[in-house]
Amino acid sequence: MRYKLILILMITTFLVSCSKKAQETAEENWYDPLPRQSWSAFERVDTGQDWFEVYKISDNTFAIYEPNQWQEAISYLLLGTEKAMLVDTLQGIGDLKAVIDKLTDLPIIVMNTHTHYDHVSSNYQFDTIYGLNMPYTLNNTKGHNHDEIGSSVTSETIWKNLPDNFSYDFYESKAFKIDKFVNDGDIIDLGNREIQVVYIPGHSPDSVILIDQENRMMMTGDSFYPAPIYVYSDSASFQDFFMSAQIMFGYRNDVDYLLPGHNETMQPVSYLNELRKATLAILNPTTPYEQGENRRAYDFGDFSIIVKDPLDFGIRTGD
Ligand SMILES: [Zn+2]
Repeated sequence: MRYKLILILMITTFLVSCSKKAQETAEENWYDPLPRQSWSAFERVDTGQDWFEVYKISDNTFAIYEPNQWQEAISYLLLGTEKAMLVDTLQGIGDLKAVIDKLTDLPIIVMNTHTHYDHVSSNYQFDTIYGLNMPYTLNNTKGHNHDEIGSSVTSETIWKNLPDNFSYDFYESKAFKIDKFVNDGDIIDLGNREIQVVYIPGHSPDSVILIDQENRMMMTGDSFYPAPIYVYSDSASFQDFFMSAQIMFGYRNDVDYLLPGHNETMQPVSYLNELRKATLAILNPTTPYEQGENRRAYDFGDFSIIVKDPLDFGIRTGD
C-alpha cells in the first residue's frame, strides 16, 4: 500500500461505499499517482469523452476508467456476438452512453456488481438493466439526491477534466429500473460469450462477481481490488464477506485475471488466495490491526481490509 490510511477521513454519508478514497498523506496529493502507471500496458481508445479513459484490455473487452476523481471507478464492456454487457456504470459524471455508443452497436445489457452509487449512477442512460430482486437493491434503484451524496463529488475530490456541463451543486444519482431479475448461478448469454452471476455478499448485501470462463476473467466489483477494501458500512457484513472470499477462491482454476471495480485492472488470480488467507487472518485475534473509530484496518500489503469493531462475525443482532 503506497499510502498511509487515515481512517478518520470519511466524507460520504450513509453510503460510505467504495474504493480507497480515505487515503491521504501530508507529503503527497491523493491525485499524484493518477492515472496509475499499470494502465499504460493497455491500448488506449479515444472516444471523445475526456472524463473517461477507455482501454482495450482484450480482443472483446474494454475497461472504462475514471482517473480524475478519487473513487477511480472502473466499468467493463464485454462484447459478445449478439449482445454486449456493461458491468457497472460509474458515478454519473460525463456521458457514459456516448462512450459506449462509440465502442459498439450491439444491444447493451447493464449488470451491476452491486448498487453503491459509484457503480450505478449512469444506469438511467441505458434501456436494459439486470439486477437482483432484494430489498437493498430495489431501494437503491430509487437513486440518491444531492443531500445524500453531494459531499462525495466536490472540488476536493476531482482534479481535472470535469465535463463542461457538470455542476457540483446538482450532482445526484438518478433512479433506474431493473428490467430483469437474475439469481445466483444464472448464465447470461451474450452470443459466444457466457457470463455467470455468483452471489457474494459482504461488501454490500447485493454484491456479485461475474465470471467469464471462456475468457478466464472474473469481475470482482468492490469485493477485491488492490487497495483498502471496505467491509464496515452499516449494510456490510464481515461474516458474509468471509464466506464470499471462500466462494471466490473456489473459482481460482477457472480464471486467470481479476477485473476490479476501482483503481487497476487485470489483476492476477493469485489474489484470490491472498484474499482468502486475509479473511482467515482477521479471525485470528493475534493478527495486528490499526484501530480506528468503530473500525479496524488490517494491512495485507497490496491491499487491506477495513472491518467493524467489534468484528461482526458470529454476532447475533436484532434480539
Ligand atoms: Zn461499493
